[in-house]
Amino acid sequence: MGNEWDAIVIGSGPNGLTAGAVMARAGRSVLVIESEDTIGGGSRTDEAFGTGIRRDVCAAVHPTGYASPAFAELGLADRVEWLVPEVSFAHIFSRGDALGVYRDPVRRASELGDDARAWRRTVALGTGAAHDALRMPAFPRHLPRMARFGPQALMPVDALVRWAFRTERVRTAFAAVAAHAIRPSDALGSAAPGLLLGTLTEAGWPVAAGGSQSVVDALAAIILGNGGRIETGRRVRSARELPTAGQVFFDVSPRALVQIMGERLPSRYVRRLERFEYGGGVCKVDFLLREPIPWSGAGAEELLSTATFHIARDRAQISGAEADVAAGRVPDRPWVLGGEPTRVDPSRAPAGTHLAWAYCHVPAGCGSDVSDRIVAEIERCAPGFTDTIEGRIVTTASGYEDYNANCVGGDINCGAANLRQLLARPVLSARPHRTPVPGVYLCSSATAPGGGVHGMSGYRAAKTALRDG
Ligand SMILES: Cc1cc2nc3c(=O)[nH]c(=O)nc-3n(C[C@H](O)[C@H](O)[C@H](O)COP(=O)(O)OP(=O)(O)OC[C@H]3O[C@@H](n4cnc5c(N)ncnc54)[C@H](O)[C@@H]3O)c2cc1C
Repeated sequence: MGNEWDAIVIGSGPNGLTAGAVMARAGRSVLVIESEDTIGGGSRTDEAFGTGIRRDVCAAVHPTGYASPAFAELGLADRVEWLVPEVSFAHIFSRGDALGVYRDPVRRASELGDDARAWRRTVALGTGAAHDALRMPAFPRHLPRMARFGPQALMPVDALVRWAFRTERVRTAFAAVAAHAIRPSDALGSAAPGLLLGTLTEAGWPVAAGGSQSVVDALAAIILGNGGRIETGRRVRSARELPTAGQVFFDVSPRALVQIMGERLPSRYVRRLERFEYGGGVCKVDFLLREPIPWSGAGAEELLSTATFHIARDRAQISGAEADVAAGRVPDRPWVLGGEPTRVDPSRAPAGTHLAWAYCHVPAGCGSDVSDRIVAEIERCAPGFTDTIEGRIVTTASGYEDYNANCVGGDINCGAANLRQLLARPVLSARPHRTPVPGVYLCSSATAPGGGVHGMSGYRAAKTALRDG
């Protein structure tokens, strides 16, 4: 008797939907099963602030999605309107003191000053290098660029910035980009995310018009348009409850894969997955504002034309906060990562209403609301901010795990970006998405190349499956 489906995908995050879209376009029958009532995982947009006010619950900015080879192959540019600000991100040191990293090389060089050439040499390695990093562990197509990217990526970010840059401002700005991955800045490999995201500042750090939901809706449309089906509100707890299928893709954490597959997974592989480490978490605040954040003074121009800001007075604030998180302490003075989507996409809220979000890193599993510390940092740089707040929604790290089982302990990337897991994600293998069980693939961001809304884990899993038969 034949299988009911060629491919089943468990989980409708960007990776699960990309796997489904690749399989559906290859003529395979596809069923996607999602535990929550809506699709999208970490790329959902909701209307929790009210009808017509579109809040990104998790992912908000899409440098890796915009550059993704998977999304390019699936034609997402025709389905998603990317709004690309002139300034990829602004680093705010204090009131009136900010540094904007522009897409335009001439404006970027003038902002980076004495470190313009060093940035070009160290960070701006081109889209080809970014594509190679996103295709990991495939053999690089741009060897000379990757020969520079690779060794630098393995360095601790502290060492890289001291070696590469002369000015403390640029060192701090780069350290914040690298710290997106929630790693101590003296850890080997902590420079890697800075190099990937840094090189993508040239292409741009866009938002998706209408919210991040547009990205996953576009992927779902490809599946449905090719005859696939998506079922929501159905949590898969055991492989026994699945319809029969030729191939099954798990957009879940390694921990959940072990639970769902049970004894079907060889014990040696289970032991390797049990060694997989999850990272720190985030505490995020979404703000409904009467007016945009009142950044003032020198640097305000940059802040007005970007979707992403980082706040840290200096490098010590970033390294201190990340060391605290790694040691299981909530930072007293966190560094803050945030954005104001309505500056770039006014369609997200009615006239006179503005949206902002900001988060900081906290230890894994932390249930504390640290929004006051986040607000204090923004207020330090934008006096009067507090008076503009009309509403706020706080999601703690443990709240993120309740929201999405893949955020183990509030880890937004479903797995620490430590050195071992930069090279072996989730295990050391040329085909890390293939499990030892024939026809079973892990395709979440717990697999190479890791976190972000780029679909590359799902894409690589599906391509492996198509080769397998
Ligand atoms: C607060 C936050 C901010 C972020 N910001 C950004 C950003 O700005 N830019 C960016 O690129 N990335 C960002 N990310 C990371 C990004 O969201 C993730 O890396 C990405 O969504 C991972 O995609 P995925 O498909 O692997 O998993 P997920 O998006 O986590 O999706 C997994 C899906 O599987 C479902 N699922 C899990 N278990 C089961 C089960 N047993 N049965 C059925 N369904 C199941 C879940 O409900 C979920 O819908 C952020 C994440 C968070 C949490």
